[in-house]
Amino acid sequence: MKEPVTAPELALSVVLPVYNESGNLETFIPELSGVLRGLGRSYEIIAVDDGSTDASVATLRRLKEQEPRLRIIRFRRNFGQTAAFTAGFDLSRGEVVITMDADGQNDPADIPRLLKIMEEGEYDIVSGWRQERKEPFLSRRLPSMIANRIIGHSTGVVLHDYGCSLKVYHWQVAKNVKLYGELHRFIPALASEMGVRVTEAPVNDRPRRYGKSKYNLSKTVRVILDLLTITFLLNYVARPMQFFGLAGLASGSVGFALGLYLTLLKLLTGVDIGDRPLLLLAILLIILGVLFVMMGLLGELLSRTYFEVQGKTIYMIRAEE
Ligand code: UDP
Ligand code: MG
Repeated sequence: MKEPVTAPELALSVVLPVYNESGNLETFIPELSGVLRGLGRSYEIIAVDDGSTDASVATLRRLKEQEPRLRIIRFRRNFGQTAAFTAGFDLSRGEVVITMDADGQNDPADIPRLLKIMEEGEYDIVSGWRQERKEPFLSRRLPSMIANRIIGHSTGVVLHDYGCSLKVYHWQVAKNVKLYGELHRFIPALASEMGVRVTEAPVNDRPRRYGKSKYNLSKTVRVILDLLTITFLLNYVARPMQFFGLAGLASGSVGFALGLYLTLLKLLTGVDIGDRPLLLLAILLIILGVLFVMMGLLGELLSRTYFEVQGKTIYMIRAEE
């Protein structure tokens, strides 16, 4: 992993993705400011306006008069929450980067405790866990319970609540994690390849005051597709040959065995094998086997470009002492 040249200038950066949250920002930003001031450390609040069509930007500008440490980043159009987080991470100057919903669902009062846990345990990520979620069970909590189980199982990073926006990151994690699609939910799993220390802590969940959630059930489907991508990325991106090669060898050797059996049958007993479905199967399996192995080799080439283009190293150093 490539470290940015500039070391953090501030103690804390809070990143807020904002999409039509005018009413909520009005009370949330002052509440957040209060908690951050109480910590007595240098901080910045980065509000990333994700192409809002309501008065969010005007509201933020007004709030900035009271809170000069508020930075307003405006997207040209709606790029989605993952993009907003990424922009916030890229622009952040804090040693610790905190992400939250801008709708007030996460409680700023939880921040001091999460920071304490992070510092005492030398964690790189402390992830919020909404133990008592206020959202509807069938459409939101059940799908996310299932998703959390699957993500935990397939990535090895077991958390109760991947979907909670309130998370605290060491700046190296925020600066180096590469996000696409809807992958912001999976940052702890994605970051696990850097060898980060992750833990979770219970946080408060509050109902949204104004507006409604930007997500619905169709999100769940997209999250499942992202899960497939991420499982593959985490397990095989550095060794695609292990994945495709194994399938190729299995298929190829069964095909070969069948072919051998048919050949011997023909040679020893002289029966006709030309019209046997088994012959077709043998040919199919052999071709599939060759294709899989070739895909594995191509994957190996791609994986090398993948690492080099991103300037990624195959290791990551925690510290030099
Ligand atoms: N959000 C965003 N871009 C989007 C959708 C949402 O920046 O395209 C922001 C939204 O303003 C909020 C956060 O992402 O601050 C989470 O969205 P929401 O509260 O609708 O999701 P939920 O909490 O219901 O999962
Ligand atoms: Mg929300």
